[in-house]
Amino acid sequence: MVGAGIVGLAAAHAVRALGAEVSVYEAGGPGGGQSAGQSRIFRHAHEDTRLVALVVRSRALWAQWEEEFGTELVSPAGAVALGPGVEDKLAVLEPFAQVPVRRLGPEELRERLPLLGPWDGTAMLDERGGAIRTLAAVGALVGRLEGALVPDHVLSVRPVRGGVEVRTGTGVHHHDHVLLCAGRGTAPLARGAGLELPVELGAHVRVSFAVRPEVAAAAGLPTLQDGSGAFGETGVYAAPYPGDRFWSVGLGDTTGAAADGGVADPAALAGLVERTVGWVERALPGVVPEPLDHVHCWVTRLPWGDDGVGVWSADGVTAVAGHNLFKQAPALGEALARTATRGRVPDELAPEARLGRAAG
Ligand SMILES: Cc1cc2nc3c(=O)[nH]c(=O)nc-3n(C[C@H](O)[C@H](O)[C@H](O)COP(=O)(O)OP(=O)(O)OC[C@H]3O[C@@H](n4cnc5c(N)ncnc54)[C@H](O)[C@@H]3O)c2cc1C
Repeated sequence: MVGAGIVGLAAAHAVRALGAEVSVYEAGGPGGGQSAGQSRIFRHAHEDTRLVALVVRSRALWAQWEEEFGTELVSPAGAVALGPGVEDKLAVLEPFAQVPVRRLGPEELRERLPLLGPWDGTAMLDERGGAIRTLAAVGALVGRLEGALVPDHVLSVRPVRGGVEVRTGTGVHHHDHVLLCAGRGTAPLARGAGLELPVELGAHVRVSFAVRPEVAAAAGLPTLQDGSGAFGETGVYAAPYPGDRFWSVGLGDTTGAAADGGVADPAALAGLVERTVGWVERALPGVVPEPLDHVHCWVTRLPWGDDGVGVWSADGVTAVAGHNLFKQAPALGEALARTATRGRVPDELAPEARLGRAAG
């Protein structure tokens, strides 16, 4: 395994559950790449119903992990969405009996999300969505994988007779199968095994703000997706930190990479923060609009959609790529572990299936 982000950790945990041995090479700290920072949104609504099915499986596994690790991993306060896209989300989720979703009237919305400004348009609540307790999840998995983590940088991976060669900063190793879960490092490593991944890089920033002490929701704060445009931006997402004292906010937008892999326009990255603060000033009277901390990272998108995910495999090397994968990590980890031990990518995750493709 290369990479101890949430996907690599979940996959390593699943490999062990199948009774196989695993080593996890990690160049930095576990959970320090795209998986960094507090909180992610768990939501069921996705444009591709096949992805909804994967996410439903993941939700069941998050609950199983909560039992196994003895800690809360998805908050119980739900996931709220605003705006015209809500009707499509409700329609996509209707066939999934396991996913309780409903429209929210303005009064209940105010009760559940008292930090939000006036909004009496369409809103919905995904009751089994919520804020993923990211640090707890990474910490619990790292604890379970004690002895398997190898703090080393992988330079190359290539199929050789009888297995796969892994060249690291300090050694040469051989394994039966190598799973590449290295985030932005995956596509360059996969090339050594003849796998070309069409990953598009974007630099992203998410900012956190303090929730005003007088703002408290009886049932805890849900997560929010604002596609309404009513507050000057579409495609905004927000999630509370554990304890609801801080609220993290990001825009769907990213800024691109230069040919050498660096941020093409650093000013554009700073500009995303200014737009985020502007949205907070207009939309969230219940938070103090001063940035407290930032999560900067690269995101890795596939060309067929913001939620697109795919798995490539050949000659003992399997690579996974996509975006918005935190929520999917348990089910993805399970699928990757099976691929590594059985040697076959599940049909729905093969790149030609274009799982998570945008509708229309
Ligand atoms: C700000 C932000 C908000 C997000 N919001 C959501 C959300 O609300 N819901 C959601 O589901 N998802 C969300 N996502 C996406 C989600 O966080 C990522 O898709 C997910 O964390 C990816 O995990 P990963 O394990 O694939 O990659 P990473 O976490 O990047 O892990 C890859 C690891 O591989 C290591 N590595 C790389 N190259 C090498 C090498 N050559 N040798 C050794 N180690 C290497 C890296 O150090 C890293 O630790 C968000 C992402 C960001 C950045």
